[in-house]
Amino acid sequence: MSIELAAIPQLRSQHIDIPFLAELGTKLEILRVDEVHPLISGNKWYKLKYNLLQARAEGHQRLLSFGGAFSNHIYALAAAGKAYGFQTIGVIRGEKAEPLNATLSFAEAQGMQLHFISREAYRHKADYLFLQELLQRLGPCYLIPEGGSNTLAVKGCCEIIARPDDYDYIACCVGTGGTLAGILEKTQKRTKVLGFAALKGGDFLYEEVNRLTSAFSGSIYDNYKIVTDYHFGGYAKATPVLVGFINDFKKEHKILLDPIYTGKMMYGLLDMAKQGFFKSGSRILAVHSGGLQGISGFNERYAKKNLQIFVD
Ligand SMILES: *Cc1c(COP(=O)(O)O)cnc(C)c1O
Repeated sequence: MSIELAAIPQLRSQHIDIPFLAELGTKLEILRVDEVHPLISGNKWYKLKYNLLQARAEGHQRLLSFGGAFSNHIYALAAAGKAYGFQTIGVIRGEKAEPLNATLSFAEAQGMQLHFISREAYRHKADYLFLQELLQRLGPCYLIPEGGSNTLAVKGCCEIIARPDDYDYIACCVGTGGTLAGILEKTQKRTKVLGFAALKGGDFLYEEVNRLTSAFSGSIYDNYKIVTDYHFGGYAKATPVLVGFINDFKKEHKILLDPIYTGKMMYGLLDMAKQGFFKSGSRILAVHSGGLQGISGFNERYAKKNLQIFVD
């Protein structure tokens, strides 16, 4: 059963029992945002929520957005369109490869129309003229930017941390920064938010996050840090160490992490703890933002290198 768009979901947070953290006197909980919806997983449900309500209020019947061939955002948008009564169009970066990968065949099965455009044309995805031309060709649509980060996405992500608590740290993953921006809006000043960049060279993300919070509330926050040391080679790149960590974490704690975002965050968080980053007595909340749909595509791409994430 699909949760109503207007709902405020109840998420559970689980204590993670790790001996070396206990020795350090550090408490770690993981917020299971990945469980919010079986198909519109994790932060993507929150990012889409107010966009879809807005589209509905404006009388739109179609949603259009952008993404790569393995995009969690495209997957979630396709499922959200089906669940909440919109047609969807996904503008996909690059040539169409057949057979479609797991992400895109799911999207198509949900009824999404896929439009493939060249990598060159895709660079213009946020340009006014490009978008006007696209709408002229495809007809009226409610536009959502790549990755889904706009002011309404920030509004939705404010609801991820349902009750401000006395955590010392909140950790989340960062792609475009919308999720971090929403979490910051809801966090008390004394809590530090750690955003783990999923891509290489993540320092530009401060500007993105500041832009998003300024647009949302007029605020720029200083109680956050973009952690740039755990990208494992770059966006969607992985190493045997990362994959081994994800498989071990699953075995140990019965929680599946994804290789693009949450696996890198959790690895980084535990590594920082080992290096003494958190003082004794710290309470940490790690946001599991989902992304598990990406594992099958990851396993396909990394089969040649013998890197495989075990799902069960
Ligand atoms: C998309 C995604 C993110 C990145 O969210 P942003 O708001 O773009 O920073 C983080 N985690 C997961 C699992 C995602 O799918």
